Amino acid sequence: MPDPSITEPSPPAASEEGGRVEVAAYPHLLAPLDLGFTTLKNRVIMSSMHVGLEDRFWHFEDLARYFGERAEGGVGTIVTGGFSPNRSGDLMPFGAKLVSRWQVPFHRKVTDAVHKAGGKILLQILHSGRYGYTPLNVAPSAIKSPISPFTPRALGERGLRTTVQDYVRCAELAQQAGYDGVEIMGSEGYFICQMLNRRTNMRNDRWGGSWQNRVRLPLEVVSKTRAAVGREFIVMFRLSMLDLVENGSDFDEVRRLAQQLEREGVDLVNTGIGWHESRIPTVSTSVPRAAFVDVTAQIKTAVTIPVVAANRINMPQEAEAIIAAGQADMVAMARPFLADPEWVNKVAAGQADRINTCIACNQACLDHVFSGKRASCLVNPRAVRERELLFTPTTSAKRIGVIGAGPAGLACATVAAQRGHRVTLYEARDCVGGQFNYASQIPGKEEFRETIRYYLKQIELHGVKLQLSCSMDAEAVLEGGFDEVVIAAGVRPRMPAIEGIDHGKVLSYQQALDAKEPLGQSVAIVGAGGIGFDLCEYLTCTGLSPSLDKAQWMKEWGVDVTNRTRGGLTEPVPVSSPRQVWLLQRKSGRPGADLNKTTGWVHRLMVKRKGVQTLTGVRYERIDDQGLHISVAQQNTASGGKSPASLLAVDHVIVCAGQVSNVSLYEALKERISEGRLSFGLHRVGGAERAAGLDAKVAIASAVELAVSL
Ligand code: NAP
Ligand code: SF4
Repeated sequence: MPDPSITEPSPPAASEEGGRVEVAAYPHLLAPLDLGFTTLKNRVIMSSMHVGLEDRFWHFEDLARYFGERAEGGVGTIVTGGFSPNRSGDLMPFGAKLVSRWQVPFHRKVTDAVHKAGGKILLQILHSGRYGYTPLNVAPSAIKSPISPFTPRALGERGLRTTVQDYVRCAELAQQAGYDGVEIMGSEGYFICQMLNRRTNMRNDRWGGSWQNRVRLPLEVVSKTRAAVGREFIVMFRLSMLDLVENGSDFDEVRRLAQQLEREGVDLVNTGIGWHESRIPTVSTSVPRAAFVDVTAQIKTAVTIPVVAANRINMPQEAEAIIAAGQADMVAMARPFLADPEWVNKVAAGQADRINTCIACNQACLDHVFSGKRASCLVNPRAVRERELLFTPTTSAKRIGVIGAGPAGLACATVAAQRGHRVTLYEARDCVGGQFNYASQIPGKEEFRETIRYYLKQIELHGVKLQLSCSMDAEAVLEGGFDEVVIAAGVRPRMPAIEGIDHGKVLSYQQALDAKEPLGQSVAIVGAGGIGFDLCEYLTCTGLSPSLDKAQWMKEWGVDVTNRTRGGLTEPVPVSSPRQVWLLQRKSGRPGADLNKTTGWVHRLMVKRKGVQTLTGVRYERIDDQGLHISVAQQNTASGGKSPASLLAVDHVIVCAGQVSNVSLYEALKERISEGRLSFGLHRVGGAERAAGLDAKVAIASAVELAVSL
């Protein structure tokens, strides 16, 4: 059955006449939007995302290039990462802010680059409130957030009035810097959300208590900003339409606020979903595409100004459908523009199958930002390195052989070919994708198939010669007549030296995912790393992946998209697992502690809700017909010793104990170097180079870096 979430390489609904391409496929998405005083060139907004170039003025050349490339790629409207209107609104000490005239010329570089490419750009004004990772943070009330160690100082009357003025000053400076408008950040749990909700606003003065008092600050910010910047300057408001926290707003409050914002002069309402402290994922890969568009659609019926849909929109089919159905007037996407700056141009040319799709993994973007590192993109390592990582056409085309068509081999082969080299890509299996073929079978990771589709298209576009079902040995490589050879032979599962590891019950994670027969009713997983957790999700899921079934996903996570319950929360109803699963590790620490920063909690929570039993401090004694025999460290005994051996009477033992590099071909070729028989440059990338802690982000980045150096 076709998978509804996966892009069919759609035939371009465009006709070519005398070199002119007429596009019929995405008419709503590509239509201009008239705001009365200005026109946005299409319905696509590159929404705000901090990438780590905003905090220091000496990075503004890089920032200008980053945004400039996206504007050249066709996006009509861009929103910068958040800039605080004052020091107490900083996200971190010395974080990005726009507070003074001396900063204006630096921002000019950014606005000039975008305007030169025909785009528009808004500055996002973001006051972090109690989310500030700084001891100077402030909030409506002195209530610490779960995501900052610092308890905020409650602002007094004067502090609040000054804060409103600071927003206005920030907008005025943005106008002086050439921005086309501002977005006032009123979602994700930042300062304005904190003012709006009783959860964080315990005041009993004119800024707290009743709803009218709690909305006073955002309404004053908007009305005073509008008065200061005049009518012909875009003011967008990012409205928290579904808070996804206890004691958040309900639908009626959100609707009334949207209507008031319109009266005070807002031009566009953008969608915000969830606070950073919510325990419901809102952007990770397991969230269904366009999951929250119904929330936006409800607000659209309440206002007459254009409304923007957001969250987990990454491909044009969904984006077009949203606008065509009248659920929103525009769509906002942040990460998809890290993955592919040319997203809109490709859509306009009827080439959606060439889009490098954001797979919502967060690994190189949000995980980096939340660790204080510069963002990039797992599927596009050029992102935020636009001035450094250049795919310059080669002046001397070489013959390059790439062995292995996993993510690293695909990235290296296609970028080298794009630069003009003559590349042959060999793969022992009958398909490309390597580890991504396994990842894409995990419920919630279906997006990984998009990356395989993207590379297959790149192979075709750049003329890479693909040889499938072709196992290369050293002699075959030597006979290939190459100038450069890249070994990207990947990894194989590590099978630990446990007695009985060859027993018929034992499967590597690859064998388990390849298995044609259903796995048993009880399964033990050896190794609680990323792949162990993935296997838990695979083994505990029945039927269609909830990521492909929006209604089911909402039920499992306890989301009321109508927001009739405060905060949009209901009781989660997890679907019970079809089998009993144990997840084991030798370490004594928390299983999954090393999972990715912004998504690890989602996996840990899912596995817990599915009833997976985790055991730590495990020693694997043996595997036999009875099952897996283990002993477990007794953490709380005075002796701290081991429990007597116990039996997990399981049908299968699945080994997820990391990987080892496939090095034999590389080693064999290296030997030929010592014999003086090599006439080509020899390289290795990805898992073939380093298996420990391997992830696709590192593999693809190192492969691309190699490809630009050849
Ligand atoms: P991993 O994260 O390194 O985990 C390997 C697990 O195997 C560990 O829990 C380790 O724990 C255990 N182990 C290692 N050697 C063992 C041995 N000799 N005998 C028994 N157990 C052993 O590796 P992975 O799960 O294969 O993942 C590979 C990479 O992909 C990692 O970088 C991972 O972060 C990434 N990834 C992440 C995700 C995600 O975040 N959702 C999903 C998939 C993959 P003990 O030594 O304590 O037993
Ligand atoms: Fe998307 Fe992952 Fe790239 Fe972030 S790192 S932009 S989530 S593909």
